[in-house]
Amino acid sequence: MCGIVAYIGTKQAQNLLVEGLKRLEYRGYDSAGIAILDASVSGSRSPHINITRAVGRVSALEDRLEQIGGLRGTLGLAHTRWATHGGVCEANAHPHKDDKSGIYLVHNGIIENYSALKIYLEEKGHKFTSETDTEVLSMLIGELYEGDLEAAVQGALREVTGAYAIAVICDKEPDTLVVARKGSPLIVGVGDKEFVVASDASAIVAHTTQAVTLDDYNVVKITRDGFRTSDIHNATVSHKVTQLELDLDAIELGDYSHYMLKEINEQPRSLRNCFRGRIDQREGKIVLGGLTTYAKELVKARRIILTGQGTALHAAMIGEYIIEDLAKVPAVAEYASEFRYRNPIIEDGTIVVAVSQSGETADTLAALYEARDRGALSLGVVNVVGSTISRDTDAGVYLRVGPEIGVASTKAFTGQVAVLTMIALFMARRRFMSADQCADLLKVLDTIPEKIERILEQDDVVRKVTQKYVERDNWLFLGRGYNYPTALEGALKLKEISYIHAEGMPAAEMKHGPIALINEGMPAVFIANRGRQYDKVMSNIAEVRARGGHVIAVATEGDEQIKNHCQDVLYVPEVPECLSPMLTVIPLQLMAYHAAVMRGHDVDKPRNLAKSVTVE
Ligand code: GLU
Repeated sequence: MCGIVAYIGTKQAQNLLVEGLKRLEYRGYDSAGIAILDASVSGSRSPHINITRAVGRVSALEDRLEQIGGLRGTLGLAHTRWATHGGVCEANAHPHKDDKSGIYLVHNGIIENYSALKIYLEEKGHKFTSETDTEVLSMLIGELYEGDLEAAVQGALREVTGAYAIAVICDKEPDTLVVARKGSPLIVGVGDKEFVVASDASAIVAHTTQAVTLDDYNVVKITRDGFRTSDIHNATVSHKVTQLELDLDAIELGDYSHYMLKEINEQPRSLRNCFRGRIDQREGKIVLGGLTTYAKELVKARRIILTGQGTALHAAMIGEYIIEDLAKVPAVAEYASEFRYRNPIIEDGTIVVAVSQSGETADTLAALYEARDRGALSLGVVNVVGSTISRDTDAGVYLRVGPEIGVASTKAFTGQVAVLTMIALFMARRRFMSADQCADLLKVLDTIPEKIERILEQDDVVRKVTQKYVERDNWLFLGRGYNYPTALEGALKLKEISYIHAEGMPAAEMKHGPIALINEGMPAVFIANRGRQYDKVMSNIAEVRARGGHVIAVATEGDEQIKNHCQDVLYVPEVPECLSPMLTVIPLQLMAYHAAVMRGHDVDKPRNLAKSVTVE
């Protein structure tokens, strides 16, 4: 979940590492640290490693570095932490150090057998100064070190279970950086006599676009002259240098005050990108290059399992509805974390679809492997090109919505829904749907971006409505059918960035318990666009009003009479119900954004959260 940046080359490493950390800060931001090897030898001074750490944001680390006059050297490591083991304090911040050999390490992930290893190392006389699992790994590497850092790292990794991306340096080897991964992403950027290693491409592209994406169990020894990839048993592994496709502009904030706002506003463009070349209106069909090899399996599919976590799960739930509705294949959406551990039955003809922005979500990956091992065909619906899910699935479709930096997912959500809609149509058209029927839907699908533009123009209205309720600490989000998952997503957005307690649920479920929560003035957001269940939703609105709740309705443009039943209305253009979640979610995203700003929170880095959840 954290961010790792490491550098070996000829330039001074500090600024480059700090810049990289800033790019990665959305991955974890409770503390940060840096270690740089100073290779200057004068008098009795031999190469040594200096370290600085600070609790809080990368800016706190920068202040600290300024106070001490900076660190010199051309080989170093840096880290932003998202604590798993041990509280948020300087002693637990990375880099961690071995107490005997001058070895420093940064780590992303969890060493699951750290307790047993710690007992073993304590018996060997090691003294621990942190509560982290990571320090155990640094001590273990130190314990095994006999003058060869690469060998010590390989040896230690043979002993650990869990997930890791690591970068390691040692003061006795001033021309060596060793990095490795299992389960957490790591990329080696290859420059001219310099290498930048990072957890994601955003920290690399300013320096080089040539890179090697590590596979699980890869260990890479890097010197200023080159690098070698091996596995943890020291067998040489071949690697492929590829071009990183990431535009630096896409990860800049530009004129926006927050990435989340930028990304909400990018949705018309990101969806146009997502649709480009995939909607063939003339033929009335969807073209998904990534799926053509498996078109037959999709046509014959007997069950689709869609899996993900958080926002991706909400998109998967919409996928469940639309695949059943249009393609007429039984579909189910399930939390990856639950699916994985409940001994699921995978019959012939089952396809599992892993939905994830980062393509690195640990729970989703675990579910994917479980389903794959049980014989399911696996598809990935991910945003990050080259991510683990994209590489470890049989086939897939990229979102193509561009990098998402704000921790609260927005454009990735609409991208996931758009891709799942296209997958549903891809299957439907090959099963029961006529070209004309499909063309009708495609015509509307193609207009979704401009319809989102229209909703975004009402930002001011959304802000004013939010202002009315922002002091309330409990909200309900209610919807039915396709917009039940939208209600869940609206509630999640609000709670994750504004820390307001919000519950999303099917509108009908309210009277089976949650209605007891409603008191005078409680905000209840209803997704009440026109559709099959409109009248039922109106009844639920009446039930809330009768108990003093204040209703904010997301309704269809032209529905004037709904104003008589609600305190506030936010309008979205009319589209067939199955396409409506891509529109109804937009005012909910804006509402969550404004609530967080009004409450004075750090919108892009909400407390306790990190962008890409790479631990189970
Ligand atoms: N498990 C480690 C810790 O708690 C690493 C966490 C991370 O990935 O940032 O320090």
